[in-house]
Amino acid sequence: PNNLPIAEVFIDDEDCEAKKRTKDKPKLVILGGGWGGVALLKSLNPDDYHVTVISPANYFLFTPMLPSATVGTLEFRSLVEPIRRILSRVHGHFIRAKAENVHFSEKLVEVSQIDSQGKEVRFHVPYDKLVIAVGSVTNPHGVKGLENAFFLKDINDARKIRNQVIRNLEVACLPTTSDEERKRLLSFVVSGGGPTGVEFAAELFDLLNEDLTRHFPRLLRNEISVHLIQSRSHILNTYDETVSKYAEDRFARDQVEVLTNSRVKEVCSDKIVFTQQQEDGSLVTKELPAGFVLWSTGVSQTALCQKLAQKLGNIQTNRHALETDTHLRLNGTPLGDVYAIGDCSTVQNNVADHIITFLRTLAWKRGKDPETLQLHFKDWREVALDVKKRFPQSVNHLKRLDKLFAEFDKDQSGTLDFGELRELLSQIDNKLTSLPATAQRAHQQGCYLAQKFNKLAHLSEGLSINDIRDGDLDAAVYKAFEYHHLGSLAYIGNSAVFDLGEGWSAAGGLWAVYAWRSVYFAQSIS
Ligand code: FAD
Ligand code: MG
Ligand code: MG
Ligand code: MG
Ligand code: MG
Repeated sequence: PNNLPIAEVFIDDEDCEAKKRTKDKPKLVILGGGWGGVALLKSLNPDDYHVTVISPANYFLFTPMLPSATVGTLEFRSLVEPIRRILSRVHGHFIRAKAENVHFSEKLVEVSQIDSQGKEVRFHVPYDKLVIAVGSVTNPHGVKGLENAFFLKDINDARKIRNQVIRNLEVACLPTTSDEERKRLLSFVVSGGGPTGVEFAAELFDLLNEDLTRHFPRLLRNEISVHLIQSRSHILNTYDETVSKYAEDRFARDQVEVLTNSRVKEVCSDKIVFTQQQEDGSLVTKELPAGFVLWSTGVSQTALCQKLAQKLGNIQTNRHALETDTHLRLNGTPLGDVYAIGDCSTVQNNVADHIITFLRTLAWKRGKDPETLQLHFKDWREVALDVKKRFPQSVNHLKRLDKLFAEFDKDQSGTLDFGELRELLSQIDNKLTSLPATAQRAHQQGCYLAQKFNKLAHLSEGLSINDIRDGDLDAAVYKAFEYHHLGSLAYIGNSAVFDLGEGWSAAGGLWAVYAWRSVYFAQSIS
C-alpha cells in the first residue's frame, strides 16, 4: 500500500547465532512496550518467534509509582526499564517508531518516525502475528484550555510536574510577589477523583506539608491549598464504599478540599472554572485561583485505535476500546492474525449468555421451562451475586444490580419475565462489565497470550491441522481468557486503601503503606 518500503530484513538479524536462529521463525510484532507488551515478552519462550517491538518510547514505565515520582519520593530512573534489555531474552528487535495504520489483508504495519533531517519517514513492517498493546490517552472531555493543565501519563509528564511545583514555591518566596499572587501560586488543583488523581493529591500534600515547609519557612502552611475536583458524588467511586469513605475522611482531616458533583468547564492560565451541582439539582458556576492544575479524568482511545475501529466498520461498535473475542483476537480481522490487549482493548464477554445458562440451570432444578420462568427478587439476588463474582471490578456495588431489578420490572409485579430479563441483561452487557483499564489486567492478558503463543509454536508436535474444528487453532490449543480481579490499592497520605473484591476492603495507616509499597516492588520487574 502507498508504495512504501517494507522492512523485510532487520540489520541485526545476523548479529549472533541466537538471532540467526529466529530469522526464519514466524514474525511476531508487538505494538507498544507498556504493561501488556512487556508481560507478553517476559513469558514468551525464546527462539520460537522472530519478535519485534514497535513503540515511540524505548523504555517500559512502572506507572503505579509515577505519582510518587512527581514529588521526588522516587527517582525517575527507578521507574523505567529499557525495552531493548527486556527484549534480549527472546533475541528480539526494537523499532523506535509510531504505528500509524495496519493493513490487515497484506499483514503489514505502517509506521512513522522523524529522521535526522527532521523529515517524517514511513515504512511497513510485515507480521505473521500482530499484538496491539498501545494503551490509552488522557481523556480531554472536550474541556477548553487544557494547554494550561498538566497530565500524568508519562515520565516526561512527571518531570514537568515536579519542575512546576518547585517553580511555584520559589516564585511564591520572592519579595516582589504580592500576597494574592502567592496564594494563587500555592493553590494546587487536581481534576479527577480516580486513583491517579487521589494518589497525586496525597503525595503533593505530603510534600508540601512534611518536606517543603522546612525548606520554605516563608510559606505558611495555611497559604498552601490542595483541591480535588470530582464529577461524581464520591472520590474513588469504582472502589468499595468503605474505601471511598475512608479516603474522603482522610482528606477532610488533612484539609485537602474535595469538591464533588463538579464539572470543569475551562482551565485558564490563572484559574479553573467549574460548575457544581447543588442539593436542589441546580448548577452553580464557580472559580478557583490556581497555580497548578493536574488533569487526570480518565482515559480514551488512541488515534491509531480509532482509525482501526473505523476501518473494521460496524463489527467494532465500542467507542472506548477495540473489541476482541474471548481469545483476545481483534474482532473483524482474519482469525489468529491480530490480537489486542491492555487499555486499548476490551473483551466481549457475553455476560448475558452466561446468565441465561445460569437461569436455565435454575429453571431445570425446579423442573420448569426457562421461557416461562418468573424471576423473583430472591432469585435475582443469586444471579446478581454470580455476576458480581465474575466481574468484581465493574460491579462492586450490589445495590446497582438491585436497582436494575426494580427498573426493569416494568409492570411492578415483583417478578421479571423473560422479556424484561433480556432487556436487563443487554444493559448489563453494555454498561457494567467492561474490563478495567489497569496494569493488572494488561499484565494478565500479556501473560495469557505468551502461554498461548508458546503452545502454538509447537503445534506440529501434537495436533494436526485437520483435527481442528472450524480452523480455530487458538481454541484448540488453549483456554479462553478469564480476568482474575486481585483487588486494587491506592495510596492516600501516609495510609493506603485496599479493595480486594468479594466484599473485602481494608484501610489503614503505616502498615498499609508498607504493604502497598511491597506489593508494587514485588511486581517490579528489575
Ligand atoms: P501502556 O502501559 O500505556 O503502554 C502503551 C505502550 O504503547 C507505550 O509503550 C506507548 O509508548 C506505546 N504506544 C502508544 N502509541 C503507540 C503507537 N501508535 N504505536 C506504537 N506504540 C505506541 N494500574 C494499576 O493496575 N495499578 C496502579 O496503581 C496504577 N497506577 C497508575 C498510575 C498512573 C499515573 C497511570 C498513568 C496509570 C496507572 N495504572 C495503574 C494504569 C496502568 O498504567 C495501565 O492500565 C497500563 O499501563 C495499561 O497497559 P498497556 O500495555 O495497555 O498500555
Ligand atoms: Mg503494552
Ligand atoms: Mg502508561
Ligand atoms: Mg511521601
Ligand atoms: Mg414483572
